[in-house]
Amino acid sequence: MEQYDGIALFSGGLDSLLTARLLMEQGLAIKCLHFHSPFFGSPGRVEHWRKVYGLDIDAVDVGPAYVEMLKAGPAHGFGSAMNPCVDCKILMMRRTKELMQGYGASFIASGEVLGQRPMSQRRDTLNIILRDAGVRGLLLRPLCAQLLDPTQAELSGLVDRSRLLGFNGRGRKDQLDLARRFGISEIPTPGGGCKLTEKENTRRFWPVLRRIGDPSVEDFRLADIGRQFWHGGCWLSIGRHQQDNEAYAGVLRPGDLLFKVAGFPGPLAVGRLGRDWSGEDVRDAAALVASYSPKACRSAQEGTPVPVNATLEGRTVRIEVVPSRETPFREPAWEDARDELYALRKPGKSGGD
Ligand code: SF4
Repeated sequence: MEQYDGIALFSGGLDSLLTARLLMEQGLAIKCLHFHSPFFGSPGRVEHWRKVYGLDIDAVDVGPAYVEMLKAGPAHGFGSAMNPCVDCKILMMRRTKELMQGYGASFIASGEVLGQRPMSQRRDTLNIILRDAGVRGLLLRPLCAQLLDPTQAELSGLVDRSRLLGFNGRGRKDQLDLARRFGISEIPTPGGGCKLTEKENTRRFWPVLRRIGDPSVEDFRLADIGRQFWHGGCWLSIGRHQQDNEAYAGVLRPGDLLFKVAGFPGPLAVGRLGRDWSGEDVRDAAALVASYSPKACRSAQEGTPVPVNATLEGRTVRIEVVPSRETPFREPAWEDARDELYALRKPGKSGGD
C-alpha cells in the first residue's frame, strides 16, 4: 500500500478541505478519509471531490459502530438535537488511529477551529476528544494549530508549524481568503451534512433508537425515507413520491410488511414488524396508506371500499378498507424527542452544538 505522512479527516466541508490542502502545500503526502453512516457523509461524491479538489480520498463506513455508540448512549451526551458531537469525533479519531498504521501515517489532521462551535470546538472539549480518543500528540489541527500545544509531527519537524494557522471563532472570512489563495473555485456550502443536528431528522430517528430493542443501520435508513408513523411498537413508513418508493428497495429486510393500494396509483409503504402488530393494526395501516392515494379516496367517497395489498414474506393478502387518517398511527413530533433528549442531559453539560 502507498505510504502517507498523515491522515486528514475529510467531511466534504470547507474546513476539512483547507486542512488537507494546507498540509499538501508543505509537500506532505496526505490520505483523506471520508467517514459515512446513515446520518452523515456522501460516499457517492468521493470521486467528484478527488477530481475537483485534487485530494486522495478513501470512504470509510462507520455506520455499524456509530449505531452501537447511539445504542449504548453517548458518554458525553447529545447536543441541541440528536447529535452526539463529542462522542462522534472520538469515534472517528479512534477509527482513524486504528487505520493509521496501514497507511504508514504518523499523524492525524482534522479541520476544527477553536471557538467555531459553542460546544464541540471549545478548548476543553478539544482536549476531551484528545484524551478519550487516545490521540494526544497525534492529532494536529492545522487551521488553529498556532493556538494549541505543538504535536509530535510539529516537534519532529515533519510538519512546519510556522506554516500552520491560528484561526479562531465563528467567522468564515479567513477560510474563504485561504480558499481563494488555493484557487478553490467550488466552495463547499457551510453547515448541512449531518442529519442528527436537525429537528426534522431527530423526530424520525429518535423513536427507532427508543422503541426498537436492537436497532440496526438498516432501521435508521428506513427512518430516513417517507413519512414516519408509529403506533406502540408498530412502525409504518409511507413513501411520499416515486423516489421514496424506489428507495425502499434498498432497505427492505425479511419480515417487512409491504402495503400497496390495488388498482389505483398510490404510495408504497413498509411496516416493520415490531412486537405488537395485530390484525387491527394491519387494517389501520392499510386505511392510512390508502388515504395517500387521491384516486382511491375519490372511489371510497362514491361508496366503494378500496383494496390494499399487504404482502408478508411473498404472501399477499387483499384487505378492503375505507381510506382514513383517523388512525392510532401518529407521526412522531420533534417535541416528543426533545423532551426525552433533554431529560437525559446532565446539568450544565451538552455533548454537541
Ligand atoms: S455534526 Fe456532530 S454528530 Fe454530526 S457528524 Fe458532525 S460531529 Fe458528528
